[in-house]
Amino acid sequence: MRTPPSAWVADGARHVWLPYAQMKTAAPPLPVVRTHGSRIELADGRSLVDGVASWWTACHGYNHPAIARAVRGQLDAMPHVMFGGLTHEPAARLAQRLCALLGPGFDRVFYTDSGSVAVEVAMKMAVQFWLNQGERQRSRFLAFRGGYHGDTFGTMAVCDPEDGMHSLFHGLLTQHVIAPLPRDDASEAELDALLRRHAHELAGILVEPLVQGAGGMLMHPPQVLARLRALADRHGLLLIYDEIFTGFGRTGTMFAFEQADARPDIITLSKALTGGTLPLAATVASQRVFDGFWSDDPGHALMHGPTFMGNALACAAANASLDLFEREPRLEQVAALSRALEAGLAPCRDLPWVRDVRVLGAIAAVELAGPFDRDALRARLVDAGVWVRPFGNIVYLTPAFTIGRDDLDFLVAAVVGIVRGMH
Ligand code: PLP
Repeated sequence: MRTPPSAWVADGARHVWLPYAQMKTAAPPLPVVRTHGSRIELADGRSLVDGVASWWTACHGYNHPAIARAVRGQLDAMPHVMFGGLTHEPAARLAQRLCALLGPGFDRVFYTDSGSVAVEVAMKMAVQFWLNQGERQRSRFLAFRGGYHGDTFGTMAVCDPEDGMHSLFHGLLTQHVIAPLPRDDASEAELDALLRRHAHELAGILVEPLVQGAGGMLMHPPQVLARLRALADRHGLLLIYDEIFTGFGRTGTMFAFEQADARPDIITLSKALTGGTLPLAATVASQRVFDGFWSDDPGHALMHGPTFMGNALACAAANASLDLFEREPRLEQVAALSRALEAGLAPCRDLPWVRDVRVLGAIAAVELAGPFDRDALRARLVDAGVWVRPFGNIVYLTPAFTIGRDDLDFLVAAVVGIVRGMH
């Protein structure tokens, strides 16, 4: 028997600590009882069109039957087994498929269970890559203004220190080198000079390719990645792409880096890896990085092993998600979605209180010129029947690639109507 929502809502209000929320003043979370397609069903019977695909994960929409089937089948065989000293088919198959999909230069998959930890592992891999060669001074990274890589202590330190999200901790964290992205020759020259001073103490360069997501859906051209690859090579640094947001079709190609002529040494993946069904992340390294650990010295091993790494249910979900990318025209859907978002949001461009409207693949951002009351705006969006989570001065849409035309039109019309009525 199912408990009536009123009972568990009260339990939650008393005992659950919510993310990114001032618990004293934040609006209570909306109780959800069901999801399907691009819809979130609330306990009071309302149905919202989801504009953000649950923090950019549910790329095939919610409850895709093929993923559900794969997870159910795996549940009967083996939901989880420890990954230390044991292995299983879903993890082995997924590793092979990820390396094949990523292409040349991607050879080894290390599993974790969240994006932040995948980035932590990438950072640890890079630092130890140098440690194993006797270089003990390379403990810092070059990361970028506008960047976001997670909420753990290691990853907070490579986020933009001026972003309000983690600024409270600034000064308590490892001090990395944070610079503007090299968008032109002048900023590349400045970065080159910075690296001449700092390269000896750096393990690598960490960047979100093409779109800095949580930093404000800030987009940059693919040439930035080519500049970073050249700088990494010139100064002898590892290049790490954080594709936790951009991976699996979000920017219009399976991985954002495919739009650039520049491959990294390490890449991090999560979010849409399982089609948004189960937590799973992967840090994928090149043979060169892996070779840095290959030794007769046990001290050169990568000492990392989250309890739930390589979870069999999550790997089965990820394999089913990759099947869907193979079987169904996801990238064509992203291209169509991109055109529809561009056309649908175009009226916002003419509003004086809108600074910019930008679209790349299935990512659209309306950047407002001034600050706004985020809670009031979120409430208005819910009243209009859509689930959209504006942050900073950005109202963004990252829907499922499979969103139906009616739901998409409804979503875009609601956002345009509300942005239009803001002044
Ligand atoms: N890296 C990027 C680019 C992200 O967008 C995120 C999450 O938004 C993370 C890392 C952290 O992932 P998680 O929230 O799964 O720890």
